[in-house]
Amino acid sequence: MSPNNAGSMRSLKVGGIAPFTATDYPGKLAAVIFVQGCPWRCGYCHNPHLQSRTGEGAVPWPQIMQLLERRVGLIDAVVFSGGEATTDSMLGDAIRAVRELGFSIGLHTAGAYPNRLAALLPLLDWVGFDIKAPFDGYHRVTSVGDSWRQAHNSARLILASGIPYEFRTTIHPSLLGEEDILSLAQTLQHMEVRNYALQLFRAQGCADAGLKAVSTAGYPGKALLEQIAAMFAQFTFRSA
Ligand code: SF4
Repeated sequence: MSPNNAGSMRSLKVGGIAPFTATDYPGKLAAVIFVQGCPWRCGYCHNPHLQSRTGEGAVPWPQIMQLLERRVGLIDAVVFSGGEATTDSMLGDAIRAVRELGFSIGLHTAGAYPNRLAALLPLLDWVGFDIKAPFDGYHRVTSVGDSWRQAHNSARLILASGIPYEFRTTIHPSLLGEEDILSLAQTLQHMEVRNYALQLFRAQGCADAGLKAVSTAGYPGKALLEQIAAMFAQFTFRSA
């Protein structure tokens, strides 16, 4: 679809855009588009204002395309994030329009809609996949009973696609003990995940006072991080 047709894609509901970031797509300068909507309710969510969808979205899609047209030659990639970007059924058309501008396409997803993800994967150059918890404890993080099933299916789709990816887990001591983190890492190793990251909870943007009140000092322990680092071809720990 030509960018000139961007006005026909009003229904992609965008909550905001970060026009320039060096940290959201590995090795590339990128813009990040934050799509509204998410079916899950993680306590540590950094963007709880994006969980709900508003009538027209906060930023009209044609405005997003105009901004991206001005970024051609200045950035390399566009990352669709959220919220859960795959909530929006117009995401595929939006990605195709952005691809026509010549950008690489990244997707941040927690995999809540595996069928939609399967259709989107051929359009993507990189996926950042949020894996929340060991599958038998997924609901403790997402507050949704069968969310593990969607996450499991999406993880398998990403791994089978051959598309470059990073699996990453946000960790908080009230949600994931060290034994949970190790159990998850072992599951991912068994699934032949090669690129994994742990991200320490950040209070910025989080609306859960209980999580923000808990100290993360000394968590996770150095020995655990070393053990997990040895399990993956690439491993990253991001502290707060
Ligand atoms: S899946 Fe992501 S966007 Fe949705 S509630 Fe959890 S952290 Fe927030």
